Amino acid sequence: MKICVMPGDGIGPEIMEQGVKVLNVIGEKFGHKFETTEALIGGAAIDATGGPLPEETVKACKESDAVLLGAVGGPKWDTIDPAIRPERGLLGIRKELSLFANLRPAALFSELKDACYLRADIVEKGLDVMVVRELTGGIYFGEPRGTKTENGERMGYNTMVYYEHEVKRIAKVAFEAAMKRDKRLCSVDKANVLDVSRVWREIVIEVSEEYPEVELTHMYVDNAAMQLVRDPSQFDVIVTGNLFGDILSDAAAAITGSIGMLPSASLGASNPGLYEPIHGSAPDIAGENKANPLATILSIAMMLRYSFNMAEEADCIEAAVEKTLAEGLRTGDIMDEGGKLVGCTEMGEAVIKNL
Ligand code: NAD
Repeated sequence: MKICVMPGDGIGPEIMEQGVKVLNVIGEKFGHKFETTEALIGGAAIDATGGPLPEETVKACKESDAVLLGAVGGPKWDTIDPAIRPERGLLGIRKELSLFANLRPAALFSELKDACYLRADIVEKGLDVMVVRELTGGIYFGEPRGTKTENGERMGYNTMVYYEHEVKRIAKVAFEAAMKRDKRLCSVDKANVLDVSRVWREIVIEVSEEYPEVELTHMYVDNAAMQLVRDPSQFDVIVTGNLFGDILSDAAAAITGSIGMLPSASLGASNPGLYEPIHGSAPDIAGENKANPLATILSIAMMLRYSFNMAEEADCIEAAVEKTLAEGLRTGDIMDEGGKLVGCTEMGEAVIKNL
């Protein structure tokens, strides 16, 4: 299996180094050959080539079976021409690979439950939600859009539009994800108000016929936002459009209280999937061996599960992370009373020991 590795900027190279070590140990342990090639993206690419997404990077990604990304951006590039900012590299590669589905699991490790922003009695039944967000359609891309002056008054407008094929393919990804988890899928929309949501709901119901084992429910987005903080244990997988998914996936992630722990996947129809931690390049701690590599390591578990169908290998990584936390090891971002403060390298090595 060919994997294109893009460490990126800030803490990217440090966390990715630990991630690749974990991947190699999994390869040895389970008898797989993971061939990795490094490519430039973001600020590192700007410095080397003048642009955030060099042609060679796009080529290397397209020739791979999966792509791993650290993080991009930092103050060094904050003042350059917006057209070539580091984030453009990220948006660009998502577009090049036609990644229309964003999978964002938000799980609370029992060892870190004190970091959770919700009351203990609310999360005692657990918090393990996967938000599947449509990434390339909806109101962020719909036409017509624009701003104008009408009758002497300024106005702005966007269009929320979903085509049948867009809903079908994201629904399929969500049902497949549910099949790999607890087989419960909640489709979130605003069908009481929006026509686009009524079509969305109709199509999701049609797709559900292909997945009789998955229990499908529907919820309006305002209620979903409330239920997520009131009783997150009721959710397994949530599927929703671009705008609602943007908000709900961040809310689900935020309540766990541990940004350095959360992985993500972006998937297309047949192109390589892209796996990355949800956090940024953390320039405030870059190069200091303080970064938490667990979100990256868990992103690699997602890659094994979703791109390579290697459930046992993914379980092995997740169990090793859990064991490492149970041993009390903590990076600064998840440090708690009684925890043993370690650096990025030590955390990576502890996970490897526990694999
Ligand atoms: P950030 O996620 O980089 O950092 C927010 C805070 O969380 C910081 O205090 C940081 O030290 C901490 N943090 C984040 N990840 C951590 C980890 N793994 N271990 C320990 N602590 C961690 O967000 P920001 O500060 O808003 O952005 C910094 C840069 O990252 C900006 O240039 C931004 O554009 C970029 N960014 C990139 C991505 C991406 O590459 N996907 C996402 C978000 C932000």
